[in-house]
Order: sequence, then structure tokens, then C-alpha cells
Amino acid sequence: MKLLALIILISISAYASDNDITHRPTSFSYLDAKAVFVDFDEAIYDITFDIARKKSEVVARIKLNVPEAGYPVFDLIQEPTLVTVDGIEVKALDVSTPSNETKIRVINKKLSVGSYDLEIRVPLNNLIEYTPTGVKSAFWVTDLEDRYYLERYIPVNLEYDRVKMTFNLNYLGLKTKQHIFANGQVSWLSETKAKIEFPEYFTVNSLYFHTTPVGSVKLIETTFKSVNGRDIPVAVYMADASNATSILNGLKDYAQRTMVELEGDYGPFPHASLTIYNASLAHMGLGGMEYAGATVTNENALEHEMFHSYFARGVAPANGNAGWIDEALASWRDGGYRRLSTLSGSSSMAAHAPYTRKTDTAAYGFGAQFMSFLDHKFASKGGLKPFMNKLLEKKIFEPIFTEDFIAEMELFYGEKVREVFNKYVYKKPEWDKLKSEKHDRHRKLSHAELQAIL
Ligand SMILES: [Zn+2]
Repeated sequence: MKLLALIILISISAYASDNDITHRPTSFSYLDAKAVFVDFDEAIYDITFDIARKKSEVVARIKLNVPEAGYPVFDLIQEPTLVTVDGIEVKALDVSTPSNETKIRVINKKLSVGSYDLEIRVPLNNLIEYTPTGVKSAFWVTDLEDRYYLERYIPVNLEYDRVKMTFNLNYLGLKTKQHIFANGQVSWLSETKAKIEFPEYFTVNSLYFHTTPVGSVKLIETTFKSVNGRDIPVAVYMADASNATSILNGLKDYAQRTMVELEGDYGPFPHASLTIYNASLAHMGLGGMEYAGATVTNENALEHEMFHSYFARGVAPANGNAGWIDEALASWRDGGYRRLSTLSGSSSMAAHAPYTRKTDTAAYGFGAQFMSFLDHKFASKGGLKPFMNKLLEKKIFEPIFTEDFIAEMELFYGEKVREVFNKYVYKKPEWDKLKSEKHDRHRKLSHAELQAIL
């Protein structure tokens, strides 16, 4: 009986990581073997902010599951100071993917199939500012640029991989209290040490982390009652200003109305909490960015970003060629869920080189029109919304390819749609004409702009 229970347990946990294994990019030739994409089972990050010395460091301890023999891949922009595999020092070089669509780090040690302990030390230099009493640091990301997820700050895997991440934060020389805004479970262990545990289904695009000295922002905390009766903790904050409280109250009410709309259409809010950073610097006209139950946004993009808690950070893309789906759905919603009986044009939103990581911006305009077209096509079956709900039910927190989206759609409507997608999202030649399509929801922020809102 015990053995049976163990076998069942093993098969359940194997099933849980199946999606990560099947959604790895394919390995490619490297040196005398292959560079292989792996599965992170767990990642613990010790992050030390040395405030007096104005230096910070990350030590990452990662449980690595290597499902295919070869040179393992991970990513990190900053040059690491030390990398070890099972205690043995190795190198991890920046390597271009075969079509030069992106770069990754490849460990210069061939590993056979199995589990390993990977340790990486790296300075934290990006988007950090020391104040006389504390530190401002944020791990903000965007999907509109290549190599712009958490690899900008800490060693991570790519978008397909769900991993239980834990931050152990140590504020050395802290003189005042710090805020920690995060979409994980935050616990303060002492005046200067805190721990954040993020859900095990998070990926490099889900995690929200921002720390800043108490007093530098205005914060409103409340709870929203979800349709399923759950109290959802809500934090709304912004840089302190004389009218901050009234702006934040307005934003909180707006978020509550938006939650009612979204829960009415798509069911209970899928995340543990909701964090809204109002980075509304009027002269910059910033757009927003979505995280799992969190957003950096201004008022104009709030609904759009909250929608992304369902599609983008609920039903999530496994790679850059799937990133268009949630932008198209969000923009289709922004435009009032319009129906279109005909559609002209085409795009290559799902047809970029295989290791592409950023989202094609044609998703905002043409992508939204494509969803309008599909909604019309399936009008007799209730349009796209019933399918979107099915997708949330079946695929939430399991990163998907465009191919999964198509397969699920065919299953749901009992009709072949592959040809329709071939026509509108897999065409190469039109790309150049569409890529400069205007969008303002997630305008890329410059480094200076990000630093200004830290
Ligand atoms: Zn969006």
C-alpha cells in the first residue's frame, strides 16, 4: 500500500513538471554536443543589499533537472562571478541561438540526464538606487524586448519553466524600514531580514518585486471580495505627493469595478493578491506592464493590465511566438469585444525564429482584429468567451504554445482552424509592414524612465 502511494505520488509530481519538459525549446548543436534546455525544480535567491557599501549581490541555489544530455542552458545578463555545478566550478558563456534571435548562457560542462545543484553568484547592479537610509530596487520586466525578463537581475530559466522561487533578503546597514511589494508571501524575520515565497507555478514573467524605503511612497491597503467569497488583499501605491491619497482611492475604486467586470466574464480572480503601482508620470505618458496579480501602470492601462492577470499571467505564453495571444485578447477587450465578419492582411506574430522571446507588437492592432474575426466565426457558439473560459479552466498556469491554443480551439468548437491561423498569424512576408504598428499600453520604458519611478 505504501509503495503504491509512493508510485502515485511520483507520477503526480512527474505530471506536474511534464508541461515544462514538453515546452522546452529544442536543443541545438554546441561544441561537440548540444546546448539543452532544462527544468528548474526550485530556485532560492539570497539577495544582500549592502547599503553602506552601495553594493548588492545575489547568490542563487538552483535544483536543476537535466532531461536531455548536453550543455545546460539558463540565462543571466550580468556576468556571474562564480558558477558551480555540484560544487565544481564551471563557466557559463553568453551564446547566440542559431538564428541570432537571442542570447542565453550555456554551461561549459556536459551533463548527463539527472538532477544537479547549480549555484551562481552575481552582483545586482540593474535598477537599484541607494538612499542615505535604505535602498530602492525593482525587478521590473517587459515582454516587448528581447532578454528583458528576470534575467536582467537574477539567474533564471526561460518563459516555459515554472519554478518555486524564494527570496531571502538581507538589508545590511538599514537605518529605516523598507516596503516590500511582491506577489508572493512576504515575511519579515527581523528588522533587516525578510523572506518572500512565490507560488510554484511562477515563471520569469510572473514575479513582481519592488522594495523602497518607507516614506518614499504613499500606500493604500484594502481587500476586494471575490465572486467566490475570498477576500483578496489589495495594495495600491505611488510616489508620495500632496494629492496621492485621492488619486490612490480613485484608482482603487476603478480597480474594484474592473475586477467585477473581469470576474463576471472569466470567474474568480486567479491570483492570491493584487498589487498596483501607479507610475503615472504625466509628462512621460507611461503605459503599463503586467505581472501575476500585479501591475506597474497608469490609470489608462489599468483595465488592460488587470485583464492580463487572466490572459498572460494566468493562461501564459511559453515563448515569444505565443506572446501575441494575450495581447490580442486584451486589446480586443479594450476595443469593446467587437465582431468582424471579414479580415484583410496577415501577420507573422506566431512565426518568428524558434528561440524568439519578445512579443510581436502586431498583436495590439491586427491581433485584436483577428480575435474579432474569430469571435464572429464562432458567433453561433457564443463567440470566443466560452472558449477563453475553457482555456482558463484547462490551462491556467501551464505555459502554452500557439499550437496548444489552436489545438484547444479545435477541440472546443469541433472544427479545424489551423488553416485560418496559417493565413493570419503564420505568414512571414507581411511582418515588416506590421511591426511598427502603434500601441501605447506597454510602451517600452527607457532605463532612465524606470530609474525615475524606482
Ligand atoms: Zn498588454
